[in-house]
Amino acid sequence: MNYRERLKDKKRIVIKIGSSSLTHAATGRLDLLKMEVLVRELGDLRNQGKDVVLVSSGAIAVGAAALGMKGKPSDLRVKQACASVGQARLMLIYQKLFSEYNQMAGQILMTKNTMVNNANRRNAQNTFNELLSLGVIPIVNENDSISTYEMQSLEKFGDNDTLSAVVAALIEADLLILMSDIDGLYTDDPNSNPDARFIDTVDNFDERILNMGKGSSTSNVGTGGMATKLTAARIATAAGVDMVIANGSDFHNIHRVTKGDDCGTLFVGKKQEEFFLIDYIEKLL
Ligand code: GLU
Repeated sequence: MNYRERLKDKKRIVIKIGSSSLTHAATGRLDLLKMEVLVRELGDLRNQGKDVVLVSSGAIAVGAAALGMKGKPSDLRVKQACASVGQARLMLIYQKLFSEYNQMAGQILMTKNTMVNNANRRNAQNTFNELLSLGVIPIVNENDSISTYEMQSLEKFGDNDTLSAVVAALIEADLLILMSDIDGLYTDDPNSNPDARFIDTVDNFDERILNMGKGSSTSNVGTGGMATKLTAARIATAAGVDMVIANGSDFHNIHRVTKGDDCGTLFVGKKQEEFFLIDYIEKLL
């Protein structure tokens, strides 16, 4: 079975972009040239008739830059204020860029409670499905301005890696692409271990793979390191969703992945009969 070939036929795709892939490291401000490529890539997937969901970070980083702060704030209240300003600004730019390609974009902000509360979860699911059937690209982020505990507990829902896997499972996506600051999964942290080997495909997600996440992200902009990406992979694959970690330094990697090229690390989805999304999220709380 050629797992990569199967990626060509995916119909419902969730793409997650981290803050460090969207902003200039020196200023924290948006990298507009890269955003243009991102929007073209997603617009083209829509033009191929696929359902597309974008999980975009960047609210805090963009808000902090807009408010003239140096680096990312650490105080919770300041972070929340930054997210409020930054999320609106981020959406303004997405709306503008998507409209240039005649694509409609909508916003969905979620918290852990959205998933844990049955009524809220069903509402979110219905809204996603309705938006997708209307041809809209939902743009998702955590509701950082109000969901305080999320941001404090980094290994939990407070990173968009986990959030994007939860969304992919919720809407029964068939592919999740995490755009990262690294090419994919290595046997060890390649920044500190020159013998670290790149892993092309993971078709059996076991303890050995989970341990490879201990060396974390080099990024100081977002919150997700390799450990959170592997948590995301565990959720996505158990829900039967294929997941790819690819390098977000070049958003053209999105079409490389969806054309079945050898790009990034592919985690092959294997639906586990005993997998219940809610049980899983409760374990993460
Ligand atoms: N939700 C946060 C933001 O938009 C980022 C979370 C993450 O980096 O994963 O700023």
